[in-house]
Amino acid sequence: MIVVGAGPVGLCAALALRAHRVPVVLLEADPADRQRTGSRALYVHGKSLALLESISRGLGAELAARGVLWNVRRTLYRGRQVYAREFPPHDPARGLPPFTSLRQSETERILLHACESAGVEVRWNHPVTEIVAHSAGVTVATADGTTWSGSHVVGADGARSTVRKCTGSTLDGSAAEGFHVVVDIADAPDLERVMHYEHPAAGGRSVLLVPYAGGFQVDVQSRAGDAPEGFAAPEEVCRWLPALIGPTPSERITAISVYRFLQLIADDFTDPHHRVLLVGEAAHLFPPFGARGMNSGFADAQAAAEAIAVGRGAPVANAEAVTRFATARRAAAQVNSAAAGAALRHLRPPSTAARLRRGAAARLAPVVPRFGEWLEHAPYGPRAVVRH
Ligand SMILES: Cc1cc2nc3c(=O)[nH]c(=O)nc-3n(C[C@H](O)[C@H](O)[C@H](O)COP(=O)(O)OP(=O)(O)OC[C@H]3O[C@@H](n4cnc5c(N)ncnc54)[C@H](O)[C@@H]3O)c2cc1C
Repeated sequence: MIVVGAGPVGLCAALALRAHRVPVVLLEADPADRQRTGSRALYVHGKSLALLESISRGLGAELAARGVLWNVRRTLYRGRQVYAREFPPHDPARGLPPFTSLRQSETERILLHACESAGVEVRWNHPVTEIVAHSAGVTVATADGTTWSGSHVVGADGARSTVRKCTGSTLDGSAAEGFHVVVDIADAPDLERVMHYEHPAAGGRSVLLVPYAGGFQVDVQSRAGDAPEGFAAPEEVCRWLPALIGPTPSERITAISVYRFLQLIADDFTDPHHRVLLVGEAAHLFPPFGARGMNSGFADAQAAAEAIAVGRGAPVANAEAVTRFATARRAAAQVNSAAAGAALRHLRPPSTAARLRRGAAARLAPVVPRFGEWLEHAPYGPRAVVRH
C-alpha cells in the first residue's frame, strides 16, 4: 500500500494500515532532516489520543505524556474578565486525558518513530509527480523517475495535494476576509488558555493565548486595513507583542506565521476507480479555531485504512468500502466546515446586530454566567461539534 505525505495524517494512515498488517511504503517530498516551521496543530483531542492508542499501543499515552494540559480557561472582553474556570488536574490513573497540547512537529516525531517501529518503509526526498488509477490498482511516479505500484493510494499530501489533482477532484468552499498572525513564544509562564475579545492593547483586535509543551501561541486576529506584510513583519511583531504579553526578548520568538480562515472541501474523497483515498488537508481545509484539521485528519486516516483492509482481495466489496469511506468522511468534513463557519461568524460578526450581541453578552456575563460561557465557547464553533 502507498501513502503519500509524512505529515501527521499520512503517518497516522501508515500506522493504521500496519495495524491491519498491510505492508506500507510512505513517500514524502521533503528530506528526513526537514525543519517544520511554527507550532501549528497543538490541540490533540482525547478522541484522537484514543484513536492513536488503538492503532499503536502506548502512542496516545506517549503524546499525552509529552504534551501539557491547561486547567485554567479565561475569557476577557475589552480587558474585563467575563469567564474564568479552573478544572481539577487530570489524574493519569484515570486513563488518557481529555486533550493534550504539543507542537505539531513533536507529534510528527512521535508518530514517525511509531511508524518505523511498526515496519513502515519511509522514502524521504520522493515527491510524487503523477498517479494513474485503474480498475486493478494504482501506479505512482516520483520525481526521480521511479514508479511504484499498489492496490490503493492514501493521499495525505496536504493542502496543495498532487494526489488530489491527479484524481480530478477539486476543492470547493470559501476563504474569509482577513487573516490571523500566530507568534510562537518559548516557555509558557502559565498553563492558562486565555481569549481576549477586542483587546485594548491590541488596537481592539482579538487575541488568543494557547500554551503547549515548551511555549505558547499568541494568535492575533487582523482588523480591517491590516496587511500581513506589515502587521506580521518581525520588526512590527516585536513592536506590538510586549503590550500583550510583557517584555519579550526576540530570542523567545521562535516562529511567526499567518493563516487565513478557510473552509474548503474536495468534491470527492476518492477517484472513479475507488483506488485513491484522500485524507487530511488533501481532502479538506478548516481554520485552526476548533482544532478540526489534524484531529479530523486522524479519523480520515483510520477510516481509509479500514476501508482498504476490509475488502482486501475482494474487488467489489473493496470498492464499496472505499465508496462508504468517501461518503462518510466527506459528510464529516461538511459538519466540521459548518461548525467552523459558525465560529467565523462569531469571531468576525457579519452584522452590527451580531457584534452588539457579543457586547451585550459581555455586559450581562457577571450576572448571568451562561453569557460568559457562550463567549468562552463560541470562538471554536458549536460545542462538541468536532466530527471525528
Ligand atoms: C496556526 C495553525 C494552528 C493549527 N492548530 C491546529 C490544532 O490545534 N489542531 C488541529 O487539529 N489542527 C490544527 N491546525 C491544522 C493542522 O496543522 C493541519 O490540519 C495538519 O498539518 C494537516 O496535516 P496533513 O498531514 O493533512 O498535511 P500536512 O501537515 O501539510 O502534511 C502533508 C505532507 O505531504 C508532503 N507532500 C506534499 N506534496 C507531496 C508530494 N507531491 N509528494 C510527497 N509528499 C508530499 C509534505 O511535505 C508534508 O509532509 C493548525 C494549522 C495552523 C496553520
